[in-house]
Amino acid sequence: MNKIKKELIFLGTGTSEGVPRVSCLTNSLDCLVCNDAVKPNSKNRRYNTSVVIKISSLDFEKNILIDAGKSFYQSAIKWFPKYKINTIDGLILTHAHQDAAGGFDDLRDWTNNTQSSIPIYLRKEDYEVINKTFYYLVDTSKITSGGTVAKLNFIIIDGTHTIIEGQKFEHLKVNHGDHYFANGYRIDNLTYISDCSFIPDKTMRKIRGSEIIILDSLRRGNKHKSHFTLEEAIEKIVELKPKKAYFTDICHDIEHNEVSRYLVDASKHTGIKMNLAYDGLKINI
Ligand SMILES: [Zn+2]
Ligand SMILES: [Zn+2]
Repeated sequence: MNKIKKELIFLGTGTSEGVPRVSCLTNSLDCLVCNDAVKPNSKNRRYNTSVVIKISSLDFEKNILIDAGKSFYQSAIKWFPKYKINTIDGLILTHAHQDAAGGFDDLRDWTNNTQSSIPIYLRKEDYEVINKTFYYLVDTSKITSGGTVAKLNFIIIDGTHTIIEGQKFEHLKVNHGDHYFANGYRIDNLTYISDCSFIPDKTMRKIRGSEIIILDSLRRGNKHKSHFTLEEAIEKIVELKPKKAYFTDICHDIEHNEVSRYLVDASKHTGIKMNLAYDGLKINI
């Protein structure tokens, strides 16, 4: 039988400025996380939060990206060859902040050299932002000097879900700040929410029953206006009771090894396997 395999690869697990912060390397030599993050293969090295869903069988392979932020190019050169991600068959956006959408210009490599175009699935309000930030990708008549740009096919998403290459992405509307919303997505039994400060009841109902939940967890302690802290994220995970949880969108306040040890203890207490995600981590879904 030609079995279909679904995997998720974390292309980035860091917040907007990434880890290390340049200012920690230039101003404050005592930030242990940022100073560790410059070492090769440090799990504290974090590019902008993004994942790829890889669906494959013996005779086909489809790769669907969720977000491509400012550091998409650096993530791609590191992880695309390693995980043999050859094409981008769709890109679905959580929201139009630059750490989620700032890498759109770099998609030109694929449409110049690998495939004719890339479908971009996004909300109407995000399309309006992209129309301002990447006006020449939306309206190619504005290209100057005759250079080539990424050929993107923008598709507005609305309603309860989007189907990309036969895979359903259920829309999960969450607060990302008091008056701004981002989308998370449920893909079969996996829930992915990268940017979130509050989950409305209606969305909580859609998440319930997920076996794996990937959730925003910016830092420890201090509350943040537009992101969950680790403590808030753990509280939600305990409430939702998946089998496994992964935390992402992490800033330099979280040291990978220290917090991973803390999560081993938290997993024992709660019976839920909780992990800190890291760039390049691949999981089966
Ligand atoms: Zn730092
Ligand atoms: Zn954001």
